[in-house]
Amino acid sequence: MQKKWIDYGRRIRSGPTILFYHGVMPAESKSLESQGHHSVSEFGKQMQFLSRYHRVISLSEFNERSNAGAKFSSKEVVVTFDDGYKNNLTYAAPILKKYGVAPSLFISTKHFETGQRFPTYFARCALWYTDKDQVNIEGYDQVFDTSSMENKKNSLVRLMRFMKSTESFAVNHAVEQIKNWLPAAKWCELERQIPAEQILSWREVQELANSGWEIGSHCHDHAILHCGNNRAAIRYQLNRSLEMIMERIGYCKFFAYPNGERGFVSGPAIEEVEKAGYALGLSAEAGDIQGKLNRYLLPRRLAPRKMLHFVKVLHNSMLYRKRHAEWVTKSQKKGSE
Ligand SMILES: [Zn+2]
Repeated sequence: MQKKWIDYGRRIRSGPTILFYHGVMPAESKSLESQGHHSVSEFGKQMQFLSRYHRVISLSEFNERSNAGAKFSSKEVVVTFDDGYKNNLTYAAPILKKYGVAPSLFISTKHFETGQRFPTYFARCALWYTDKDQVNIEGYDQVFDTSSMENKKNSLVRLMRFMKSTESFAVNHAVEQIKNWLPAAKWCELERQIPAEQILSWREVQELANSGWEIGSHCHDHAILHCGNNRAAIRYQLNRSLEMIMERIGYCKFFAYPNGERGFVSGPAIEEVEKAGYALGLSAEAGDIQGKLNRYLLPRRLAPRKMLHFVKVLHNSMLYRKRHAEWVTKSQKKGSE
């Protein structure tokens, strides 16, 4: 089986791959309330594969070598994590240590001050567990039908679309209202039932940093830097998180866009990441890391859960080269307008 994976890699050669994960939990989280975390066994197999057949480098090494114009092969892989879940320390860190992998972690600093979970957690849980037939977000003309499971699913799609396209202050305002859709006791119960979404404390982030994890910014409150956010809002997100990480960790060189896909990263955001002093900006879109790159819109791949798909992702960046290059060109044009 493994031989087949390696042969696949030889057919399509491409540059290094920057992977991103969110969390690692004992069992795969299939529930709607908690998505996007790998199981311990899936993650362990992936790190074992990388340590055997690839060369895992830190983001700093990638940055230094690309600054120096060094050539990369398709063997180099950078491992990154977004958001900053507690399970990164409890479940991912021991596996990474076992295989000698030094990852980067991008954190949304406000959540480390308050311990409050991310907006999408509140949205998913509130819609799922409300016993009302209809809920709404006042002031934004948003009404959601929650009278059946089917309607809740449709409403969740619409609510997520609203949360991902509105200004960051409006998202925070909406979260305060969404919290009222469930009684306080239910939120306490869900916090215990859904540990995957628990946030690291600053002390724990420092513990990871001390063990070789590189800490970078993922905005102050996980704001999505789409064109609905003006430059002042973007600067606040970039600068506040940078200051806090500098203060607690002592450095903050890299930035990863929350929800960093095409359509969710504005031209001004890309410019502001550079102006704020970050050395790299990482997207969440596939692409090939070869030749001349926009350092503030680097391609990055979400690590798939299944091993066969994971191995394909490591070797097929070239297929996305043209698509990513188009995105970079368009963003630069928009940014300078
Ligand atoms: Zn994120």
